[in-house]
Amino acid sequence: MSKSLIESNLPDLDLVARGKVRELYKVGEDALLFIATDRISAFDVIMKTPIEGKGKILTQLSTFWFDLLKDIVPNHFITSKIDEMPENVIKYRDQIENRSLLVKRLTVLPIEAIVRGYLSGSAWNEYKQSGTVHGIQMPENMRESQKLPHPIFTPSTKAEYGEHDINIHPDETKKIIGEELAQKVAEVSVKLYETAAEFAIKRGIIIADTKFEFGVDAAGQLYLIDEVLTPDSSRFWPASTYKVGKPQQSYDKQYLRDYLDSISFDKATPIDLPPVVSDDTLRKYIEAFVKLTGKRPDLL
Ligand code: ATP
Ligand code: MG
Repeated sequence: MSKSLIESNLPDLDLVARGKVRELYKVGEDALLFIATDRISAFDVIMKTPIEGKGKILTQLSTFWFDLLKDIVPNHFITSKIDEMPENVIKYRDQIENRSLLVKRLTVLPIEAIVRGYLSGSAWNEYKQSGTVHGIQMPENMRESQKLPHPIFTPSTKAEYGEHDINIHPDETKKIIGEELAQKVAEVSVKLYETAAEFAIKRGIIIADTKFEFGVDAAGQLYLIDEVLTPDSSRFWPASTYKVGKPQQSYDKQYLRDYLDSISFDKATPIDLPPVVSDDTLRKYIEAFVKLTGKRPDLL
């Protein structure tokens, strides 16, 4: 396996953004190089220890879903093949191979399009308090991890760096991106979730919830962007051990979050992870990839 990538260094390209996990470089006027590093964040804090190969798994899983879901809505994917990228990108093959996509550069809509099929996480916390999820009234007497009567669109704001996203009622998105686009994003998000969840359950994985991001081009065409349906953006549960009334084992970052809770992590200061935690986290990511795609990720 090649070395892990904590931070890219591509001096001949203009860095557009360095997120918690991904780095974006400008490629020509209309494209971006979208690189997934091996950084891992939890509670919006980037850990000091990388998860070696995680960026490759996320990139390859996103590519898999882009292809599977492309008939529902166009997406930003152009290519993942380094040889199809411009010369000034190809020269950085060592750093970017298997973990990067060339994507269409779009205007990002300032909302996180979350869809939930099960009652978990912040939605479960809100439900226990008020019987609602993102302000939407839910049936009485629901239990933790219970399947919702139908998947619901439960957006949040898209926080600036260092801030936390805030859960909002779907109607709030109309004020942020306009009524027509809000309606379209809600519809498309639920359709994407339903299609992916139906696919995943046949492979033994419950997609409890997920977060999509969308962008628009100059003509106003809506595109699915960012990463899609990865363990970083979704709660994946093994169907074989699913049991209502408690938190679930998971293939996603929940494993890391549980560890951090167990050591009373202050949710502010980056820390080193013990090897057993980083190894187990990687193993979970690989397991989810193999189950969903039926292939092993290319970690070279
Ligand atoms: P997190 O996802 O953990 O909240 P983040 O949002 O800070 O982290 P990353 O996910 O690491 O950032 O970086 C990806 C960034 O790139 C996001 O801000 C996302 O909105 C943006 N982005 C994704 N696809 C495109 C695209 N096609 N055009 C322009 N920007 C994009
Ligand atoms: Mg992101």
